[in-house]
Amino acid sequence: MLFSILTIFPDFFSSPLQEGIVRKAQGEGKIEIGIHNIREYALDKHRMTDDRPFGGGEGMVMKPEPLAACMRAAIRPDCSRRVILLSPKGERFNQAQAERLAEYGQLVLICGRYEGVDERFRRLYVEEELSIGDYILTGGELAALVVIDAVSRLLPGVLGCSDSATNDSFSRGLLKHAQYTRPQIFEEMGVPEVLLSGDHAAIDRYRLVESVRLTLERRPELLASARFSPQEVKILRREGLYGRIEAMMRTQRAGGDAD
Ligand code: SAM
Repeated sequence: MLFSILTIFPDFFSSPLQEGIVRKAQGEGKIEIGIHNIREYALDKHRMTDDRPFGGGEGMVMKPEPLAACMRAAIRPDCSRRVILLSPKGERFNQAQAERLAEYGQLVLICGRYEGVDERFRRLYVEEELSIGDYILTGGELAALVVIDAVSRLLPGVLGCSDSATNDSFSRGLLKHAQYTRPQIFEEMGVPEVLLSGDHAAIDRYRLVESVRLTLERRPELLASARFSPQEVKILRREGLYGRIEAMMRTQRAGGDAD
């Protein structure tokens, strides 16, 4: 997977991409990250990448020509690719989007600044727009880092333990259960007995139930996409949780139909 970042602040990325799993994945050739300075593609001698908005109003707008030239230079022709503008007006980025994007060979991530990019560039070249939440950042760089981090860890061989991404929160419509580590007693608090029992089937049952309880409490709407094996349904029924999940799914379906 090649991530190509288009930015006017290339130094923004020097530290965050040189830490942890993303750094390791680059070292092992599992991902490649190209940082392209939009300013190098500016046409005038002052290397201007922004200008005042037609019609007046506050702020500056990113000019279309440097963006288009930078994007053309960044594109690797032999890849399946998505050209993505990070934008508060885009679709909300979530785990399902990360899974979808992990299928491409190249993601071109365009970082806006100021009032954003010229509308003609967006209409001509941007294939999708992604927002990382309902708030306004000063630029798309942090949003691009969020996308790179979330997508990278889904790629084959990037995470050490092969199933750690599949068991994460959101991956199957559930929040992940709580975790404990040593010491066994911390400030007079112990850990649930079952986790010390060595009975792995019992531990799996306990974790499933905890996961469902937590999801019902905090993010019940996620359960609409959860799928359970017949064995899991039996466990959840015994705990009196499956009725609540079914009720949740009915509510979600009724909401969907009403839309
Ligand atoms: N004036 C714009 C508006 O109201 O929609 C906001 C522009 S913002 C100050 C500058 C740039 O930051 C945007 O072009 C975008 O690239 C990025 N940005 C800001 N908030 C974002 C968010 N929630 N998700 C993704 N990118 C964001």
